[in-house]
This record gives sequence, C-alpha cells and structure tokens, in this order.
Amino acid sequence: MAKSGMLRFVSVDQAYPSKRPAEERRGDFLEIYGDYIAEKAAEQASRCSQCGVPFCQVHCPLHNNIPDWLKLTAEGRLEEAYEVSSATSSMPEICGRICPQDRLCEGNCVIEKGFSSVTIGAVEKFITDTAWKEGWVRPLRPVADRSAQSVGIIGSGPAGLTAAEQLRLKGYEVHVYDRHDRPGGLLMYGIPGFKLEKAVVERRTRRLAEGGVVFHTGFEVGRDATLADLRERHDAVLIATGVYKARDIRGPGAGLAGIVPALEYLIAANRLSLGDAVPEYENGTLNAAGKHVVVLGGGDTAMDCVRTAVRQGAKSVKCLYRRDRENMPGSAREVKNAEEEGVEFVWLTAPEAFHGKGRVEAVQAHRMRLGMADVTGRRVPEPEPESAHQVEADLVIKALGFEPEDLPILFNAPELGVTRWGTVRVDPQTQMTNLEGVFAAGDIVRGASLVVWAIRDAREAAQAMHKYLAAQVAAKAA
Ligand SMILES: Cc1cc2nc3c(=O)[nH]c(=O)nc-3n(C[C@H](O)[C@H](O)[C@H](O)COP(=O)(O)OP(=O)(O)OC[C@H]3O[C@@H](n4cnc5c(N)ncnc54)[C@H](O)[C@@H]3O)c2cc1C
Ligand code: SF4
Repeated sequence: MAKSGMLRFVSVDQAYPSKRPAEERRGDFLEIYGDYIAEKAAEQASRCSQCGVPFCQVHCPLHNNIPDWLKLTAEGRLEEAYEVSSATSSMPEICGRICPQDRLCEGNCVIEKGFSSVTIGAVEKFITDTAWKEGWVRPLRPVADRSAQSVGIIGSGPAGLTAAEQLRLKGYEVHVYDRHDRPGGLLMYGIPGFKLEKAVVERRTRRLAEGGVVFHTGFEVGRDATLADLRERHDAVLIATGVYKARDIRGPGAGLAGIVPALEYLIAANRLSLGDAVPEYENGTLNAAGKHVVVLGGGDTAMDCVRTAVRQGAKSVKCLYRRDRENMPGSAREVKNAEEEGVEFVWLTAPEAFHGKGRVEAVQAHRMRLGMADVTGRRVPEPEPESAHQVEADLVIKALGFEPEDLPILFNAPELGVTRWGTVRVDPQTQMTNLEGVFAAGDIVRGASLVVWAIRDAREAAQAMHKYLAAQVAAKAA
C-alpha cells in the first residue's frame, strides 16, 4: 500500500517506453500549456480588458474572481493573485491544468473566443504553482477544535478531497476511505500524467494528511465496512464515490482478446508513470506500442486513451465516433491536440462486430448519419445502409462512458435513495440523502462530469455538513 510521501516519480521515457527514437519523441510529453514564466503570465493577464461583464466568472462553476486575479498578475502582485484565486477553489493548479476551459471560462471571454481568448487556465496554473514554490500555500490548520465530532468520507477524488479540506479546516476529525491504494480518485488513476502530473495531486493529498486528515486506503466500503458501520463510527458521512460502471459493447466478437476497457488501460499507464510494476503493460495486454489502436467513443476518456496510445508508440491510432465533430462531447482543444499528435478521427462511424482468431484483428463498422433530434435535442445517429467496412485493429479500447455502480446493493444499504439512473438522490438545499446525516457530492450525484463541478458540489456539501453537525451540538446542549 502506498503511503503519502512514498510515491516515486519516473521520467516520461520510463513511463511511456517507445521504440521511436528519443529525438523524434522530444516534446511529445511536455504538458500541453508548457510552463509559463512570470512575464508570459503577466502578458496574458494584461490582455484582460476588465470588461465589467465577467462572463468568464459566471461560466466558471466555482465563480472564481478571474478578472481580479488577472489584474493582480498583470501588476506582478502574484501572492495577492494567489490569495484571490484560492479563496474560491480548493485546487486551482489542478483546474488550471485540466478544466475544459474552451467550454467554461475561456470559451466565454469577450476578448476573443476559441483558442485566442485570455489563457485563464494557464495563468491560474502559473499563479498556484508559484505559490507552492514560494511557500504561500499554507499548511492546513483548523480554525477551531471540533474534534469531538468526526466525519467519514467515502472516496478520495476531487469531491472527497475538497470536503476533507473544508471540514478539517473547521476543526472536525476527518477520515477518508478509498478502495484504491493511493488517494486522488480519477486525478490519480484516470487523467493521464501528461495532462496532470501525479506529483501535483500528491502534493495536495500530502497537505491534507499533514493537516490531520486520516486516509484509509485499500478500504472498500461494501467489502471492509457497510454504510451502516460508517454511520455508527462517524457523526456524518459523505458519499463521494464517483461513477465506475463502464458502458460496454455487445455484438459478435466482443469477447476477443485485445478489446479492453478504457479505465483499465489508463490505470495501467498511470501506475507505470508512478513507478509501479504493471504486468499487463509488460505482457502487452495494456500496451499500445507497435499496434494499430482503435478507440471507441468521443468523450474526454476517449481523448485520453488516443493520446496515451500515441505516447506509447502505437503504429496507428484511430478514434471511431458515431456522431460528427460538432456533436462530440470531448473538449475541442483535446481533439485539436490529438489531431496534431497524429490521431485519425473517423466521424459518423459505429462498430458492430469484431473479427479475429482468438485476438482482435479488425473492427467491423458502419457509417452513420444524423437523423431527427431526440427529447434531449441531440440528433440521433442512424446507420447508413450498406456501409459496412473493416478497420484494422490489434488493440481496441472501449471508452463509451460510465454509469454509477449499484450503491444500495454494494453498501448493503437498500434504503439509500437513488435516481432512475442510479445516481444518489440528495436534497438540493441540504445536500443530504434520504438517510439522516449521510450526504453525497461529485459524480455520484451529478453523473459523469468534471473535476471543477466535483469541487463546487463538495464545497457546498461540506458547508451543509458543518451546519448539520453544529445543529447536533446545539440540540444536545439544549
Ligand atoms: C479518463 C478520464 C479523464 C477525465 N478527464 C477530465 C479532465 O480532463 N477534466 C475534467 O474536469 N474532468 C475529467 N474527467 C472527469 C473527472 O475526473 C470526474 O468528474 C471527477 O474526478 C469526479 O470526482 P469525484 O470525486 O466525484 O469522483 P472520482 O474522482 O471518481 O473519485 C471517487 C473515488 O471513490 C473511490 N471509491 C469508489 N467506490 C468506493 C467504495 N465502495 N469504497 C471506497 N472507495 C470508493 C474511488 O476509488 C475513487 O478514488 C475525466 C474522467 C475520466 C474517467
Ligand atoms: S476553475 Fe476551471 S472554469 Fe474556473 S477559472 Fe479555473 S480553469 Fe476556468
């Protein structure tokens, strides 16, 4: 089991061994925004016109005070910029790296839309990375002693970590339970290291551990304890388990070797970058090197898979998506990056079968066209007649999205209220589930979403839990 402070970080070449010569690969693995220096950040920040109608702020789920921290950055007042940016966000350097800014803050910048707006995310990353370097990120110190009450948080993704920070700050005893061997959720094991370096996540969790948050890793609720056990142990519980049931594909040949789920593939790549031994990578099962790779799906997970496969030295990488570019759920910037890296997008194409003798050798696909809109307003893809064709593949990665696991069954808590989609039902005013003292936040409430929304929801849930816990104390005292 990995403990905070014991993680090992290896070079990109170790993380993604490739047969391509090093000179050719140079630059492949640099973080997409590169590293800003103070002058570059100030230059970008000074492009903000302080327009007075901060659409960027409105469209940031955390309503970060972007115009103010851009102004302070432009004036070289970085510590103050950091104070403003961290007032509303629990991990600004992480959001700065991986928010789909083209759909959020930057996409609503009035200077210019698209790829020429003020690079808000990159400046946010720069400010907070500088704060860490300069020691402006202060240790977590509770503002009061409320340790007579304890909180149990199930899940250590961005929602769990955010709630842990907020509740520990208020002085509660905080315990975080996670079935993985390291905290971080999808920050650690889903999102690839070339977008979000693992040391950046580990730095956050280490600050929490040093501030008194107790992490119980390798602890699966449902296996190691029931929800009832945790309710017994703690005064309040937060469910922040994310969504992990991968949508699957059926059809002839779907069981062939070489057809793998996206998260297994990404976890293996992330473990490798953390220096773990990964037998499935070593034996080729989850390794794209020298292979014709086909990724099925059009969301952010698919983008991470295609870009990881390129970095592993795949012979070719194709992304099959049943709608067109305009209707793709993945970030436009990611698609552009992937294309620049050599990924071929095969739009309006859906798989129907897989061919091969024991191992996959080709995907049988047919072309699609967009028909009438459904109730959600999206045009429904339908097959073009007589358009079946084969796409060569010796590794197929299924990135078709995620749904919630069956928590009432898993947690041995059939009374836990869930929606028809399996997400946990909460009262929007109190963030509480139908069970007294049990709250929920993040993807398990919202469905597969974004890190920044998980942070926002968890900050609200932590506030609601604080209110609930304070009311318990007041009731006892009365
Ligand atoms: C491959 C991939 C790439 C993504 N890329 C981006 C991106 O670039 N930008 C972005 O904003 N969003 C991205 N997302 C979405 C984002 O990661 C999620 O919206 C976010 O992590 C949700 O946070 P969470 O805390 O609710 O859940 P998670 O991050 O999923 O964390 C949940 C945690 O709960 C633990 N857990 C689950 N069940 C149990 C149990 N029974 N007992 C104990 N522990 C349990 C899990 O091990 C996990 O650590 C991506 C998602 C994926 C899958
Ligand atoms: S949190 Fe995300 S949406 Fe908000 S300012 Fe930062 S990058 Fe933009």
